[in-house]
This record gives sequence, structure tokens and C-alpha cells, in this order.
Amino acid sequence: VKLTVLGASPSFPNPGGAGSSYLIEHERVRLLVDCGHGSVSRLFAHLDPRSLSALVLSHLHPDHFFDLIPLTYAFRFRYSGGQPIPLWLPPGGTRFLAGFLASLNIDAGFLNQAFVVAEYVPDSPLEVGGICITFAPTNHFVQGYAMLFEPTEAGSPRIGYSSDTGPSGEVARLLSDAELALVEATELQHPPGHALRGHLTAAEAGSLAREAGVGRLLLTHYVDADADAGLLAAAAEFCGSVELAREGKVYEL
Ligand SMILES: [Zn+2]
Ligand SMILES: [Zn+2]
Repeated sequence: VKLTVLGASPSFPNPGGAGSSYLIEHERVRLLVDCGHGSVSRLFAHLDPRSLSALVLSHLHPDHFFDLIPLTYAFRFRYSGGQPIPLWLPPGGTRFLAGFLASLNIDAGFLNQAFVVAEYVPDSPLEVGGICITFAPTNHFVQGYAMLFEPTEAGSPRIGYSSDTGPSGEVARLLSDAELALVEATELQHPPGHALRGHLTAAEAGSLAREAGVGRLLLTHYVDADADAGLLAAAAEFCGSVELAREGKVYEL
């Protein structure tokens, strides 16, 4: 299994960076997970997007879906003629995107030029080629889902992805024993006086990885300027391997 980090920035891009996006490959399956701002230029540097098996979005915040627009234009003007690719949205996503596109004066059928748009059912596993995806609700400001990617071949390594979440037992349970977990570490410290949680501190990302018993932790969705301190804070909570997810880097499992 191969993971390519296309974007690991938080709600604004780090210098030279891009919003959340990850490419997971296993044999002939190529799965794009989230499609944040600036990420498709990196995707195009890796592959012809017509070779994607499917896209799946964790939630509909701009830093996780904005590049669907340039990606669709690319299919129209540069990569036309392939089969439409399944685009899996969280529940309610079809209606949400229809409203969003209407606000841009883009016609309702826009995404259908490139995709077969559908919504996943979070209680049921979703199979894309040889990869099974299971979901858990996140603790975030909008409805969103953490995901576990598990090749159907017995004994294959599993990759967990927290998406955006505050502390959550359900996310930790989903990521249980994953060989590698991408866990968001948006904050260094939670701002005092803000009761509402929708993100993790780097230390909490480390505790979540410990609770889940993952093999290897990749911190993502982090602010570049806080990255070194975040890495230390996470490593103080989790004694396995901890790294920062680096945009453009390929992780082989
Ligand atoms: Zn985000
Ligand atoms: Zn978000």
C-alpha cells in the first residue's frame, strides 16, 4: 500500500502548501481522499487523473473539497474521454454541492462531466476496488467522517485517517491497530476560553494514536510554524514512530 501526501495544510495553506488531500494506492486501485485547495496540481504531477478509481470526501469544508472545481475543469478541457469516476460524498453532500455550485453560477450538471456523484452510508463499509473503507463520525464543526482504509487481501496494512476532529473515542476505536494513522494536529494549544472543540492539539493527536494502538503516526493538518513543537508534543504522548506528513512525500507500507 502506498500513501502520497498531496496536501497537509490546515484551513489555510502553509507556505508552498496545499489543503488536505491524500492518494492511497494498492495494486491497481488509486483512491483520492479529500481534495483541498491547491492539491490537484500535485495530483497531476503524480498521475493522469483518469486513472483514479474513486474520490472520497471526509467532510465539506473548503480545505477538503475546493479543488473539485479545478479538477472537474481539468477533466473537461484536458483529460476528457475517460469513464466518469465515482465521487463519494458524506450524507447530504449532493445537496450541499448543488447549492455551492449554484452560488458560483455553475450549472447543476458540472460535476457529472467527470464524476458519478453518490453519498456513502457511514454505517456500512464502502468497497473501492480492493480497498474497504469504514467510517466513524468526527467531533467537528460540521458533519464529517474519519476513515479506515483496509485492503481486502488478508494481512494487508491498514491506513487510518482522522479527518478533522476534536477528541473522539469513536475515531480512536476506528483507527485501532492501524499500521499507519494520519491524525490531524491543527492546534499546538487549545485557545483558553474556547469551549467548543473541533480539532486536536498535537499532544492530543499523540494520545489518540496511543489509545488506538497504531503502529506509526503521521501528524497532518498542522500549521507549519508550529510543526517542530507539535512533533515534540505528540512524541511525548506516543512512543511509536511519529512524523509530520510531508506534502509530496510517498509512504510505502
Ligand atoms: Zn480541515
Ligand atoms: Zn474541517
